[in-house]
Amino acid sequence: MESILVLTHVDESGNTLTRGSLEAVMAGQELAGRLSASLAIAIVAADPRAAAPVLAGTNARLLGVSGAAFAQPRYVSDAAACEALCRTAQATIVLAPSSSRFARVAAGVSHRLGGVIDTHITAIADGDSVQVARWFYRQRIEVVLSREQRPWFVLLDGGACASFASAPGPVNVEQVPVELPSLRTTVTGLRTPTQDTETIRPDAKLLFVAGAGWTKKQPDGLAHVDEAAQLILRFLRAYGASLGSSKSVVDQGSDGHSVLPFLTHLNQIGQTGATPRHPKGLSTCCYGEEPHVVGWRFVGQRRAISLDPNCGWTRGKADVVYIADAFKVMDRVNAILEEKS
Ligand SMILES: Cc1cc2nc3c(=O)[nH]c(=O)nc-3n(C[C@H](O)[C@H](O)[C@H](O)COP(=O)(O)OP(=O)(O)OC[C@H]3O[C@@H](n4cnc5c(N)ncnc54)[C@H](O)[C@@H]3O)c2cc1C
Repeated sequence: MESILVLTHVDESGNTLTRGSLEAVMAGQELAGRLSASLAIAIVAADPRAAAPVLAGTNARLLGVSGAAFAQPRYVSDAAACEALCRTAQATIVLAPSSSRFARVAAGVSHRLGGVIDTHITAIADGDSVQVARWFYRQRIEVVLSREQRPWFVLLDGGACASFASAPGPVNVEQVPVELPSLRTTVTGLRTPTQDTETIRPDAKLLFVAGAGWTKKQPDGLAHVDEAAQLILRFLRAYGASLGSSKSVVDQGSDGHSVLPFLTHLNQIGQTGATPRHPKGLSTCCYGEEPHVVGWRFVGQRRAISLDPNCGWTRGKADVVYIADAFKVMDRVNAILEEKS
């Protein structure tokens, strides 16, 4: 019989489980229920008891490591913690969120335990056996696979499952001792960009895509790149959206054309860019060509603003297309949002 362990960790506050962790808990609960397998949930944190009460409704065995060494991500301490937790749970299947913290250590831990790992898993299939799905070849081919080897580590992509939620209650967290090797790395603190400079926000409800049209000559015969930059930044600030772009607009930077200064290839969505997950997407000044739209595979509701009534979006690639001037529309939208806040 399978024994399932869900590895979780806390966020920067130190006392709340990350969203990815709660998604992994949900996946673990569903899988354990379906296979009638045992379920354990482990917390990596300085004080796991602070975060544990939200897991009261899982009725799972709760394990934790504690101590200052686990307050912040670091390969040597996190790998030692995860190894100790897996050994204690005697897990055959280990589910974990694909966070930077766990993605860094999971392969190493699986190797230490003689196991096998699959990453970027987007679904666990229904049925009596364990089958997981992931996309290959730039999200074009979905493969469903299963493995005989145990322990099997499965790293779940963010947004692949709903988050576990239940009323907090009293819980008992078994403390698992960890023998730490000498720590060569000292974490001195965290430096993160401010809200204004951080434009890629995987957790945002909305993906706002800027296309090359923002930098092109407009009906008055002039380009208005500064105005475009202000309109986009105002919207990102007011709505908290994540910023994506087409390839054309970011390529212009390397071609020496005037370009939106805050866009890099990291913002690029598409075949040769990213495939983010957001409930909604709004494309602006972008044609909606297939190599771009393929990156929208996991965006729920799609809307576009384009001057071109024959653009790709109007050919079944968006749910709603506004044939309009994005400069005017976004100015009005920003005014409404700013008025509200
Ligand atoms: C192998 C390969 C891989 C590729 N990979 C990618 C990829 O990963 N991602 C990607 O994005 N592209 C990719 N491309 C390029 C892709 O095919 C397109 O060339 C690119 O997406 C076009 O960008 P765009 O729509 O922003 O620009 P354009 O095609 O120039 O479209 C600009 C649009 O803005 C509209 N517009 C202008 N002004 C306004 C206004 N005021 N209001 C509203 N609309 C306005 C215009 O009507 C036009 O439709 C790839 C191409 C190849 C060959």
